[in-house]
Amino acid sequence: MDQLIEHLRFFKELGVDGISRDAAWRRRDGDRSRSDPAGGATPADPEVPAPLEATAVPVTVARSVAEALTAIRDDIGDCTRCKLHTQGRQQVVFGVGSPEADIMFVGEAPGADEDTQGVPFVGRAGQLLTKMIEGMGFRRDEVYIANVIKCRPPGNRNPERDEIATCQPFLFRQIEVIQPKVIVALGTFAAQTLLESDAPISKLRGQLYQYRGTTLIPTFHPSFLLRSPGYKREAWEDLKRALGVLGRRIPASPQSSPAS
Ligand code: SF4
Repeated sequence: MDQLIEHLRFFKELGVDGISRDAAWRRRDGDRSRSDPAGGATPADPEVPAPLEATAVPVTVARSVAEALTAIRDDIGDCTRCKLHTQGRQQVVFGVGSPEADIMFVGEAPGADEDTQGVPFVGRAGQLLTKMIEGMGFRRDEVYIANVIKCRPPGNRNPERDEIATCQPFLFRQIEVIQPKVIVALGTFAAQTLLESDAPISKLRGQLYQYRGTTLIPTFHPSFLLRSPGYKREAWEDLKRALGVLGRRIPASPQSSPAS
């Protein structure tokens, strides 16, 4: 029952405004087109599903992206779905920024500062990320920032497979409701997880990927850039690719780039 409720809530947040008890309703468009090469369905066709309105169960449509995000946050609650809730996390770190953002930055998991404040990317790495965002010509509150994992792993260890599998659907739901035009995956873990790849970030970056209906651009994590500032120039090239996808002017001033 919990899974069913979760499933229905997810589609509600996507704006689905009805469901049907009719099994034929679940048949996909592709199935219909196989029985009708023209892809069209006539009312006389016994394979044609009943009109949605005939058996629809009313569901309240989410009124805005912000409300849909709030619904996801409420759903997470004081989450105990994976073992990280027993391993010292102070709070769930959901995400921050504009629900209408064209660009979304996705990192790995909260660190100590983020765990304390409940906001992603607020430590030293977060300050660098803010500079990178501002270098692109955005304010931090114009973009959306989240992590794959919403709770801090102990000792900042890498999240484990079961934790990713349990928590990642929340990120997918955030992406589904925000529908950014570009996702910038920050660092090895985020890029590998989202792209389901074992390749190092040095191999994954420098390219654009189609991902969940948007464009994904991997780049170095700000923490890595703090340790290895020589890679800032490559990170800036990745951010310029993101600006190109968005059709935005690329700032020319090196003072405003993370390479500075
Ligand atoms: S990491 Fe995700 S799934 Fe695990 S307890 Fe935190 S919010 Fe829940």
